[in-house]
Amino acid sequence: MKRDEFIKTALTGIIGTAMMDLNSFASAIDDGKKAQRMPALFIGHGSPMNALAQNAFTQSLTKTGNELPLPKAILVVSAHWQTNGTFVADTAKPKTIHDFGGFPRALFEVQYPAPGAPEFARQTKELIKSVEVKFDHDMGFDHGAWTVLKHMYPQANIPVYQLSLDYTQPAQYHYNLAMQLNALRDKGVLIVGSGNIVHNLGMLNWNDPQAKFDWSVEFDTTVKNKLAAKDHQSLIHYEKLGQAARLSIPTNEHYLPMLYIAALQQKSENISYLYEGIEMGSISMRCFKVA
Ligand code: ZN
Repeated sequence: MKRDEFIKTALTGIIGTAMMDLNSFASAIDDGKKAQRMPALFIGHGSPMNALAQNAFTQSLTKTGNELPLPKAILVVSAHWQTNGTFVADTAKPKTIHDFGGFPRALFEVQYPAPGAPEFARQTKELIKSVEVKFDHDMGFDHGAWTVLKHMYPQANIPVYQLSLDYTQPAQYHYNLAMQLNALRDKGVLIVGSGNIVHNLGMLNWNDPQAKFDWSVEFDTTVKNKLAAKDHQSLIHYEKLGQAARLSIPTNEHYLPMLYIAALQQKSENISYLYEGIEMGSISMRCFKVA
């Protein structure tokens, strides 16, 4: 094609595009790109203040965001959305939820204005056969989602949606549910579990951010080793892992998102660790990738 012909064709394209409905233009772009299979991530999110921090943990998030293939959407399973029944949020414009108290005003002013992903939410509901997943039309982003994504994708230009944790169900239910999400990865969805492997707020050592307890180190290492050995049965039945497990998981909402990501590991895939460390004695910041 000659240069002036090329310009003419390009201009016709631009004018044509301007006349198209914006949504159909967006889906035309979407259809044009083949989705790349995405890894799955578990992120130990720790304190909400990490949203404002620049530290080794947040730098590992930024690095991970830069290195991954660009997702078409992000599905977050967070410790901070617990429901009776399993829900997927099909909110078009999710609000940033400041679901905590006692933090500086600056943290309440943080916004993460990413769009929702109603179409992926619909596909997610269809994919899960073992239970009827319900829609939540209003759910925004809880802090387990936005404090992490703010560092991974600071432009907030990738659609994000969340799947809830049904607090009435045992760990095996969550593991089985998570396995059914695998096909989303082939559609370009980055699945992120956001919690903490060790999470005991009652035992926090407020005086020493670097503090460690024998039991928190022990349980964090146990989970690391079980993941490496693909011993998921032991991780599902964590209550049989002794005193260190009992102290590390006083309630399991921060632990369960890790099980979702373990469940997504396929035979040919491996675990790699993105970050590790114990904070204030009783929080494990371990993060890993399945790919
Ligand atoms: Zn949390």
